[in-house]
Amino acid sequence: MDADRLEHFRGILTKQLRQHSEQVRDNQQAALDMIADDGVKDSVDMSLQDVNQELQLRLGERESQAVADIDQALLRIEEGSYGVCQSCGKAIDERRLEAVPTARYDAACQSRLEAEQGLDDIPTL
Ligand SMILES: [Zn+2]
Repeated sequence: MDADRLEHFRGILTKQLRQHSEQVRDNQQAALDMIADDGVKDSVDMSLQDVNQELQLRLGERESQAVADIDQALLRIEEGSYGVCQSCGKAIDERRLEAVPTARYDAACQSRLEAEQGLDDIPTL
């Protein structure tokens, strides 16, 4: 992939990274506003802490996975392995990368891996 295309995807990934951080902040603010409107003063301090911990935990798992995927994609751009299937080494279709900039595999390997994953889920009789 040439430098211009890499810059293009780097731009998309950097923007997504920023959006994820903003998303976390917005969700936290929304939860805090909701609690503040509740008006039950006595129990607020305790429950606020609980809700915050719960929120951090849930957002943390999902968002940190998304952020890790983006980080790794950015790292692959630095290393020069971005846009190359990590399974078969072929170039990933750029239309696929436009749709999923963090894609690690081309479409063929992705479906193969998903099929293998699916087989593992079938209980052994
Ligand atoms: Zn592949």
